[in-house]
Amino acid sequence: MTAQKEYARPTTQGPNEREARKVAEAARQTEWTKPSFGKELFLGRLRLDLVDPWPTPSPEARAKGEAFLARAAELTERIDGRRIEREARIYDELFGELADLGAFGMKIPEAYGGQGLSNLYYNKALALIASGNPSLGALLSAHQSIGVPQPVKMFGTEEQKKRFLPRLAAGEVSAFLLTEPDVGSDPARVATSATPDGEGYVLDGLKLWATNGTIAGLFVVMARVPATEGNRGGITAFVVEADSPGITVEARNSFLGLRGIENALIRFDGVRVPAENVLMGVGRGLKIALATLNTGRLSLPAMCVGGSKWCLNVARGWSAERVQWGRAVGAHEAVATKIAFIAGTTYALESMLDLCCMLADDETNDIRIEAALVKLYASEMAWKVADELIQIRGGRGYETADSLEARGERPAEVEQILRDMRINRIFEGSTEIMHLLIAREAVDTHLDVAGDIIDPDASKRAKAEAVARAAGFYAGWLPTLAVGAGFMPGAYREFGPLAEHVRFVERSSRRVAASIFAGMARWQGGMERRQAFLGRAVDIGAELFAMTACCVRAKAEAASDPTGVELADAFCEQARVRVDALFTALWHNSDTSDRKLARKVLEGRYTKLEDGVRHIREDLPWVAPWKLGPSTTPDVRRKLPKRG
Ligand SMILES: Cc1cc2nc3c(=O)[nH]c(=O)nc-3n(C[C@H](O)[C@H](O)[C@H](O)COP(=O)(O)OP(=O)(O)OC[C@H]3O[C@@H](n4cnc5c(N)ncnc54)[C@H](O)[C@@H]3O)c2cc1C
Repeated sequence: MTAQKEYARPTTQGPNEREARKVAEAARQTEWTKPSFGKELFLGRLRLDLVDPWPTPSPEARAKGEAFLARAAELTERIDGRRIEREARIYDELFGELADLGAFGMKIPEAYGGQGLSNLYYNKALALIASGNPSLGALLSAHQSIGVPQPVKMFGTEEQKKRFLPRLAAGEVSAFLLTEPDVGSDPARVATSATPDGEGYVLDGLKLWATNGTIAGLFVVMARVPATEGNRGGITAFVVEADSPGITVEARNSFLGLRGIENALIRFDGVRVPAENVLMGVGRGLKIALATLNTGRLSLPAMCVGGSKWCLNVARGWSAERVQWGRAVGAHEAVATKIAFIAGTTYALESMLDLCCMLADDETNDIRIEAALVKLYASEMAWKVADELIQIRGGRGYETADSLEARGERPAEVEQILRDMRINRIFEGSTEIMHLLIAREAVDTHLDVAGDIIDPDASKRAKAEAVARAAGFYAGWLPTLAVGAGFMPGAYREFGPLAEHVRFVERSSRRVAASIFAGMARWQGGMERRQAFLGRAVDIGAELFAMTACCVRAKAEAASDPTGVELADAFCEQARVRVDALFTALWHNSDTSDRKLARKVLEGRYTKLEDGVRHIREDLPWVAPWKLGPSTTPDVRRKLPKRG
């Protein structure tokens, strides 16, 4: 058996790195009209006033939300999650029940037939329903966090809202189509074309991995309008009727987890879309996608919060009863630390999510950094929670629920939650991309004042002006990093036993800001390539945000529920250990040797190391080539029963 010969061969031509970055940069929302806790945190300023006191929903939002949650809880009790796993599909009747509940219109305003839930209650409902089976969370969030309702609500004209939203609120499913075989993390490569044809556009292309794609009635499709005289064209968002001639659902994809999702490969061949279905305007597609994700991104953490709560419940029940070596397994320290991790993390994830949701609801803060931080952090931490639960459950953690039940044991779907949770680190912005996206915002102020100094394209004059600007800014800013409330023993007294953690957050916020500045001074234009460094700086910010959310919430709830202070205290102890390790790793790491080693691995220097096992077949490419034109495969669309 020989090792493979070729590695990292580019599969197709596309925009180069610089062009790709330009596209992403153009789609970025650059203005900051509202204050941002996250942005300030990375500048070394702990702006507690932006998140403390803990926000509360309005009485109307609460009443509406609680009533919806009560009805959703009844439905969730009836969900046959195991049937969804066995049949690898969400059964027909459940779509009807979800529609009757109003689950497809949770985020749609009441004026258009929806439930008009706040972000807080929408995400609580998602977590609840997903506990019946995680594929249901994916169905509902792909439909309304990124699917048609959210961008139409945010950017649609009144006519578009009236035309689409009532259909969706009543239960018609929607999907979001950005990804293509050659377009994953890098949207600059979008190849699906939208050619103007007088009254509208003609779409041609292939879209991959569209969640809900086999059952949707409406799609949001990202396609590229060519530049013409007087029109710059660009990636554009279209609302497309799924039954338009020329659309073929070529395959239903299946995955490690989320066995029930209806995820599709979809071909567009000469699909006519009227001009009135363009959202916001030609060339605005990626801006729409990013803005939609600012709050849409909160639904994945909601699933992570729900998953962690479920894990905590199983961990507690099992660890207290299972006896080995004369004690309950939970009484052995090695297991106890895992239980503490699960409990502390669950409290932190819920606090971060609730805080972000309420900040989004009262619209006083810009939450784009916080939402990105909670997506990144929740997807990483909930995965660890599920992994630790498997370990606590021992062999039973690896066993399927059906197999456990066949022996008469409680059918905890622990192996399933691990499988289902894994995708959260990949979609709606992979961890690596979230690190870059947040890092870009974290260094935004530095680029604003000093960006031209390190921009190879900037003129001499622009560089000189940037040096002057930077000198002014840093003369005022750098001294603020040296001192702060975090060094004063009595500071943040109002947090009681949690005050020392808030002081730690304040000190660490200045330290991470100083570290980012030191990184910029050291690497200048090369900073953006220091992804490991930037990733750690962002991870520190995520831990600090999590600690802040816990402390502010625990303080607010202390009078009515003292357990919050205990959980927040325990979580902060854990987080501080991680933050200390991350600070150390900022400057003491194996990044340089890892980069070298990876390059040599890709060059094939160590292929001998791969000998001794059977290798993957080489007769097929890593990314399949495809051609435009009519489909040559049958349409595999799933028809849901018509509702009366
Ligand atoms: C179950 C499932 C459901 C999905 N649902 C939808 C959907 O409804 N609609 C839709 O449009 N898409 C959907 N997707 C696609 C999903 O959003 C993409 O998988 C995701 O964006 C990552 O793209 P990719 O898989 O092509 O990975 P690639 O972009 O090929 O990345 C491969 C690896 O390289 C890393 N990487 C890439 N670029 C960089 C960089 N610049 N710096 C550092 N690291 C980098 C990535 O993080 C990843 O680890 C779904 C995917 C799955 C599996």
